[in-house]
Amino acid sequence: ASGMSQRKKFLADIPAIKARLSANENPFGPSEKAKKALMQAVPDSYLYPRESLMQLRKLIAQEEGVSEDSILLGAGSGGLLTGTALYFAFKAGSDSHILSGDPSYMQLVRAATQVGCGWEKVSLTKDYDYDYDSLSAKVTDKTSLVYICNPNNPTGIVSNSQKLMAFCESVSPKKPIFIDEAYIDYADDPKKTTMMECVRKGQNVLIARTFSKVHGFAGLRIGYLVAKPETIKEISKFTPGPSAISATSAQAALASYQDKEFIKYSIAKNNECKAFLYKVLKEQGYNYLPSATNFVFFPIKMDGKRFLEEMSKRGVSIRTEWQYAGQNWCRVSLGTMEQMKMFADAFKEIA
Ligand code: PLP
Repeated sequence: ASGMSQRKKFLADIPAIKARLSANENPFGPSEKAKKALMQAVPDSYLYPRESLMQLRKLIAQEEGVSEDSILLGAGSGGLLTGTALYFAFKAGSDSHILSGDPSYMQLVRAATQVGCGWEKVSLTKDYDYDYDSLSAKVTDKTSLVYICNPNNPTGIVSNSQKLMAFCESVSPKKPIFIDEAYIDYADDPKKTTMMECVRKGQNVLIARTFSKVHGFAGLRIGYLVAKPETIKEISKFTPGPSAISATSAQAALASYQDKEFIKYSIAKNNECKAFLYKVLKEQGYNYLPSATNFVFFPIKMDGKRFLEEMSKRGVSIRTEWQYAGQNWCRVSLGTMEQMKMFADAFKEIA
């Protein structure tokens, strides 16, 4: 309890956060078209959004070359990650474990461990990619699922596509592989990076996507899972899925999904801010990992907690909970240029 009150005191003491660069949101969204569709959907929002969700699912199915019953929509992808974790925990039993790389995004793993399942982790390679040989070697009867986040959070690194494809081919006949593609649109070549082909081939591969990042929908909540129809059917029993999506968000998602110009704009803005941040870090004598996402991961030269406090005092929120490869790390989301300048000013004072 005293730890809690200390944290409350710390939060109360800091000035208002002016640059929120801690949750990988996209300040360039939602698009104008999405906002217009959202407002126009308000009068009819006494209706369940059945038709618009069916239409959204159909559009996604066409775009990805999969059947409509291969897709489960959700209010964000997070609930689909936890629903998947709960389904496999139920199916494989509490003596099973999830296998993943480390560090990576923890939401699915955490949901599994919270209901008593184990977590087996394999460190990333020295190039920050997944160690597919070690992951393969760790797959046992007790493995319920392999979780891969690509591009990875917090590193921002995109995995080697050929190696990941080969891993899916050799491991998926034994165990399901869950690929979290939340940041796929920011990769240089999303079509070559995605493992959707594995789903199209009928492999036991599940892919999660979200509108929270490139579409700027973190607060509107739209995501989807793509997998074999029989798997989708089972997982849908463990998550509210589309029934958690509001009519307004459904209409906004339909508009945004078809707004290819906005996606290009979103990525271009992200790249501008990324180049600016790289320059600031370089000038201050810091290294960073090349990012295929809307955040950058870099080693810091002081204790993570202190760095976070010093940045918070200056109105900038970032994340620093990682101790990895003998260093403390900071993950900073790419915001607007104004926010990145605030980061730069604060960083120069303490770096
Ligand atoms: N997967 C990854 C890798 C993420 O970084 C996030 C959010 O930051 C999510 C999933 C969940 O996002 P949402 O529930 O908004 O779709």
